[in-house]
Amino acid sequence: MSIIIVHGGIETGTEAPFLEVLREAALSGYRSLARGHLDAAEEAVKILEKCPLFNAGYGSVLNLEGEVEMDASIMDGYSGRFGAVAAIDNVAHPVTIARLVLEETSHVLLAGRGATSFARVKGFPMVNCIAPTMLKAWQKVRDAMGKGAGTGASPFTGLPAQAIDACDTVGCVVSHRGMLAAASSTGGSFLKMPGRVGDTPLPGGGIFASRRCAVVCTGLGEAFVETLTAKYVESLVADGLHPQEAAEKAIIRLTLEKRAAGGMVVVDHQNRYGVAYNSTTFPVALVHDGKIQDNFTPKKMPRYNTCG
Ligand code: ASP
Repeated sequence: MSIIIVHGGIETGTEAPFLEVLREAALSGYRSLARGHLDAAEEAVKILEKCPLFNAGYGSVLNLEGEVEMDASIMDGYSGRFGAVAAIDNVAHPVTIARLVLEETSHVLLAGRGATSFARVKGFPMVNCIAPTMLKAWQKVRDAMGKGAGTGASPFTGLPAQAIDACDTVGCVVSHRGMLAAASSTGGSFLKMPGRVGDTPLPGGGIFASRRCAVVCTGLGEAFVETLTAKYVESLVADGLHPQEAAEKAIIRLTLEKRAAGGMVVVDHQNRYGVAYNSTTFPVALVHDGKIQDNFTPKKMPRYNTCG
């Protein structure tokens, strides 16, 4: 029995092209299970990093200076090992570099120039991650700001708040023969300060996996870090809560404590799962024993307006 859940971030499109890529990612992850639970998580995230519809890898949002800086991580719930990169640039698959940090270094997190150099040393070429749509969104907002206007843009997509149809952070949780894994990748928040690091590469903040539970979050990274939301969810499940109840409780806590927008996917070692969010949209794909589950709906919690 195996489960893979992938998400495409909050405020992402839920139209066919987005859902198709998410399904492809979940199925491709599933096919990689033969190599192991970490391979499945990495593979699913790589498919999404490659797709410019999502805020990860190619197609990431731009920072204040018009650059892409990405965060990614992967965690093996079985061994408790974690690997991450932060503010890395010009690599096609930050999640793969995160996995190399986990497997081939004695560190858990490489940031900035060090992370990019590590990728080069490992043979990964320079790749431009700036997609034309994202550059256009950045230029438009920068011009508006130059004229004294507010950004009017979603911090998650970089697009006008009313036209939420482009991209967001991606993540994946895997449960396979009692072993759990989580992986996540993001360009972070639109117009962030250069060097800003969110929750995606911070264990316990936006991601966590143990022998009981794997969780990946998306949303306003600072809120997830300050509340250690991923670890909170894992502790609730370890204390016996169903992953769905844990996810809902964590989203309510996030709304009440931080007034922040977010979503999360959770799976436990018994293949029970939970998905909840408080934003406008949160596209997710779930594969159970090789089959896409179409009759599955993430739980939408009382809304927090992210674009106000
Ligand atoms: N959590 C990510 C960050 O703050 C953004 C996102 O999930 O969309 O970097």
